[in-house]
Amino acid sequence: MIYFDNSATTPIHPEVRDAMWPYLFEIYGNPSSKYYTQANKARDAVEESRDHVARLLGCQPEEVIFTSGATESNNMVLKGVADQYSSKGNHIVTTKTEHPSILETAKYLETKGYRVTYLDVDRFARADLDQLSRIVLDTPSKPILVSVIWGNNEVGSLNDLESIAKLCNEHQIFLHTDATQVLGKIQVDMTALGINFLSCSSHKLHGPKGIGATAIKKHRLGFKTKMTPLLHGGEQEGGYRSGTLSVHNIVGFGKAAEIAYRDLKESQLKMSQLEGYLMSRLSEAFASSIQFNSDVEAKIPGIVNVRFESVNNELLLKKLSDHVALSTGSACSSGKPSHVLSSMGINVDGIRSSVRISLSKLNTIEEIDQFLIELKK
Ligand code: PMP
Repeated sequence: MIYFDNSATTPIHPEVRDAMWPYLFEIYGNPSSKYYTQANKARDAVEESRDHVARLLGCQPEEVIFTSGATESNNMVLKGVADQYSSKGNHIVTTKTEHPSILETAKYLETKGYRVTYLDVDRFARADLDQLSRIVLDTPSKPILVSVIWGNNEVGSLNDLESIAKLCNEHQIFLHTDATQVLGKIQVDMTALGINFLSCSSHKLHGPKGIGATAIKKHRLGFKTKMTPLLHGGEQEGGYRSGTLSVHNIVGFGKAAEIAYRDLKESQLKMSQLEGYLMSRLSEAFASSIQFNSDVEAKIPGIVNVRFESVNNELLLKKLSDHVALSTGSACSSGKPSHVLSSMGINVDGIRSSVRISLSKLNTIEEIDQFLIELKK
């Protein structure tokens, strides 16, 4: 089976599996217990993983909070910041092409009296920065939080986080980014850019599922960044996320982060080469009967969204399913026509004939050749 659905999830790296193994069986102590070796070893492993994740994100280890994944992190930041700063305002800004874990949370907050602006996007799903500039200058409805996805999960376009952060920092507005799709694919340094909150997930970078992180820059904009916790309880993770830590998953995430940081240049090169090869083979084979929905510039290497004229995407994927794993878009909104493609101005026919091919550093040229053979059939 050729696996080209790496934006949905990635296979676990063998080094990650090996690192996790002892923490499932031998080192099972609770890292919050104090007086015996088992617990101390578990705690040391958690802290080592935190160091690796922090290095990958460009923040301090104490700014990393382990969560169950990016869905939780996105909920945590939007709800937590909205609640914490409700006395300062009720306006939140996000974009029309976020992941459902942002959009649905924003909709929920609207039912609680918050006002949400969903920024328009261009034809490659990038947020409209002029609209954002106008909003931040509008003092009476100055937002308390701006949340913009870094790299889009359906078409791969990168938002200009540098300019967005500059704007938010100048106007003293908190900035959150969903960086789930970009880790291990582009360089990330949330401190250098001036990002206050970041969400991410381990299973998109060859780590285990059910583990992710929220990073919070502790002191930005001249005051202490805070947010109301989503889960209350035993005060783990500095009180921001109670619950016994999932040590084996954290160790796996730490190892995946270590590898992603170590191999970043090599992975970028490999994925760009694979992507270039895939696009030229597709163009050669299908000429005018295909159209690329993804931009070629400022994008995550490895995500190619392509439209096959007059082909029903679900039928195509079913026909290919014995040989190739692909998807029509986000695994989290299966069934519904893509809100991302629709916000980019693509009509329903275009959406129903679009397919997302998402590669990883573990894919090969031979797999692309085989994929083309299956596709032509
Ligand atoms: N944000 C983005 C951009 C994603 O691609 C995903 C995963 N589909 C998520 C959030 C949710 O991540 P998780 O599966 O860890 O909850």
